Amino acid sequence: MGKGLIITIDGPSGVGKTTVAKELAKILDFKYIDTGAMYRALALAVKRDLVTSDKALTKLAYSLPSRVDFKDDLVYLDNEDVTGAIRTEEIGMMASLISQRLEVREALWQWQRALAQGKAIFEGRDMGTVVFPDAFIKFYLTATAKVRAERRLRQLKEMGRNIDFDEIYQKILRRDEQDKMRPLAPLKPAPDAIIIDTTCIEADKVVDKMLDYILSRMQEVNLYE
Ligand code: C5P
Repeated sequence: MGKGLIITIDGPSGVGKTTVAKELAKILDFKYIDTGAMYRALALAVKRDLVTSDKALTKLAYSLPSRVDFKDDLVYLDNEDVTGAIRTEEIGMMASLISQRLEVREALWQWQRALAQGKAIFEGRDMGTVVFPDAFIKFYLTATAKVRAERRLRQLKEMGRNIDFDEIYQKILRRDEQDKMRPLAPLKPAPDAIIIDTTCIEADKVVDKMLDYILSRMQEVNLYE
């Protein structure tokens, strides 16, 4: 298990995990790890390398730590900035498909656990349930699919992409279904996760709520200075 002080944030797409995780990491001075970006970078590498066999996919998944870099909010694949390229719905869907494979998950779990040094916030789907079952504190964020689709639409518009609401909404429903129904590490809250419904709460209020939980947990275990 990780040797560090780990906070996990899981939940479906578009629920606001990234926004709150980054803000919390800044406030608490924790490292921030976006595990969705790892699956997305793998999907992009699969597409670029024209990977077609299971064996090649597994090999690629294990080679990823030497090909992908996270620096200042940017994601690099083979030294190329792919921050925007991994954020398309197509790559999201591909990531969701390849992440169902055991060999792929094992490779990425190994990478994620290797990064669990010091103080870190891990964001994903199975951080609290599978990767860090002994995390210091676990959160699971939820929101209605409609609100999540609206948030995603806003994000994509900010990135200059013009996509129809209904298309985003249907894609979100499909990816959620795929992530929840897979037999391996399905999307669900850990039994000891704190569940926060963000449907009607702005991100800064969600951060405040999470901070309250984190600080009181720190006081409980005498970590609060
Ligand atoms: O979070 P994001 O939407 O970037 O993740 C893309 C896809 O990667 C998800 O739909 C999910 O299938 C997969 N994923 C996963 N486990 C994680 C993080 C992401 O299976 N810990």
